[in-house]
Amino acid sequence: HLGIAREAMDRLILDVPDYPEAGVVFKDITPLLADHDGFHAAIVALADAGRDESGAVVVDKVLGMEARGFILAAPVALNLEAGFVPVRKAGKLPRECLSESYSLEYGEATLEMHADAVSPGDRVLLVDDVLATGGTIAATRRLVESAGGVVVGAAVLMELGFLSGRDAFDDVACTALAVI
Ligand code: AMP
Repeated sequence: HLGIAREAMDRLILDVPDYPEAGVVFKDITPLLADHDGFHAAIVALADAGRDESGAVVVDKVLGMEARGFILAAPVALNLEAGFVPVRKAGKLPRECLSESYSLEYGEATLEMHADAVSPGDRVLLVDDVLATGGTIAATRRLVESAGGVVVGAAVLMELGFLSGRDAFDDVACTALAVI
């Protein structure tokens, strides 16, 4: 599946220059999502990050970060027969939350997760579309650990290697289907 996923990603993840602001090249994954074979191959390849060498599932929960992480993490969770947990921007979840803030180029962002979504000892896989500076994954990892969970790994479609984002969580295994 990794080969099929990479070929589909090459063709179907589009670069959008200067979006949402000048100087950023936005990776638009929506054409990949609209292609059944490419989307399916990408989900199976991401889900491999939640299995050991023999193929056995080693995670209890799959966390997806708002908003594109949801689209990927939910089918990954089903593939692994694990639970899905949404991690949202502040103020969106209705019940008691854990919160973690992290700094952006300008200002701060806060991510939240329901306080009872991850149980102590749960093994967790984090899934998102793009790894850029690593701030999102690092903050999500802190959320999981504050709930007593263990981050088994992170999986993304694309890693922007020139930003060295994985240095923000260098003790967590991170799988990127493509590095650019
Ligand atoms: P970061 O926290 O810097 O690693 O940024 C990762 C988050 O921002 C992910 O949730 C991505 O969806 C989004 N993101 C960052 N850079 C890009 C990009 N060039 N194209 C698409 N999404 C991006």
